[in-house]
Amino acid sequence: MSEVKRAHNFNAGPAVLPLEVLQQAQAEMLDFNGTGMSIMEISHRSKDFEAVIQTAETNLRDLLNIPTNYKILFLQGGATLQFAMLPMNLRASGSADYVVTGVWGQSALKEAQKLGAARAAANTEKDGFTSLPTTLDADPNAAYLHFTSNETIHGVEFTSEPEAPSGVPLVCDASSDFISRPIDVSKYGLIYAGAQKNAGPSGVTIVIVREDLLERTPANLPIMLDYRKLAENQSLYNTPPSYSIYIVGLVFQWAKKLGGLAEIHKRNQEKAALVYKTIDESGGFYRGHAQTNARSLMNIPFRLPTEELETDFAKEATKQRLIGLKGHRSVGGIRASVYNALPLESAKALRDFMQEFQRTHG
Ligand SMILES: *Cc1c(COP(=O)(O)O)cnc(C)c1O
Repeated sequence: MSEVKRAHNFNAGPAVLPLEVLQQAQAEMLDFNGTGMSIMEISHRSKDFEAVIQTAETNLRDLLNIPTNYKILFLQGGATLQFAMLPMNLRASGSADYVVTGVWGQSALKEAQKLGAARAAANTEKDGFTSLPTTLDADPNAAYLHFTSNETIHGVEFTSEPEAPSGVPLVCDASSDFISRPIDVSKYGLIYAGAQKNAGPSGVTIVIVREDLLERTPANLPIMLDYRKLAENQSLYNTPPSYSIYIVGLVFQWAKKLGGLAEIHKRNQEKAALVYKTIDESGGFYRGHAQTNARSLMNIPFRLPTEELETDFAKEATKQRLIGLKGHRSVGGIRASVYNALPLESAKALRDFMQEFQRTHG
């Protein structure tokens, strides 16, 4: 095989995948498991695909240490569909609470409000989504308390779960820090994540839900919006996104082989620290968006002294194959996404580039 020159990929999503995973997918592309067909070309009811989805589930259970009274669903529609499915299934006629620490949490709240009662138990918009809330105004009768563990655009990440009132299930949009560190799943009622940030390709959304909550699903929901029906059918009520499920399965396997989430968390801390240290030691040339105690290990948005410098920064970085550093259009600036699959060498390349850019432009 000819030498492939991979980019330093700082894309926010879809994002970098582990090289080993891509190589395995490549090797199995034409002939999956001796079938003489790719996994995309065989029935989702076949033994081969059944093994793929079951192994993916087993490996995810191992990685996150998911208790047996939780179901795992592989769905379509992205995290955005979960913004609506969640209240449709779990809210009944009650009200739901949202901890809003960025644009994604705000979108989830807005979507829930289209369909019924939902309120913000906290909202950090007044400080530009740079912080974590210190207190919650939580409704003790809420159907659930929703938070976004990592705000992908603002680079604000919870280091521990917000405390829900007793009896109120905690729900988390973990799209951009899923399987990035160990968490205690038993604290949650439901966790969902679009795969394309940290766990795989686009096209599949993972939902982990405590079984007793499935009893809340109303009887008249369309099947594709019905957690209970989808769970009863092991995510195979209709044709699932089989190739995406295959790739997330390979990513789970890769994560286990690396040593699991404690090891992955350590690596993520090391990579993020390289970038934050460069920001902190730049004498104000680089300015991080998030307050220090709210800093994300996954997405690092920062500013330069002028917008012209930011444009130059992204342009020159691209020339050196550091890709995807332009910030989200809503906040501008630069954003480095340093997900699980980003190699340490890429984080080092970014640090070196930042130091050199400051030396030549500072
Ligand atoms: C990207 C993202 C979403 C939206 O995901 P889609 O799969 O594109 O619908 C929602 N929440 C968070 C935290 C995200 O990062």
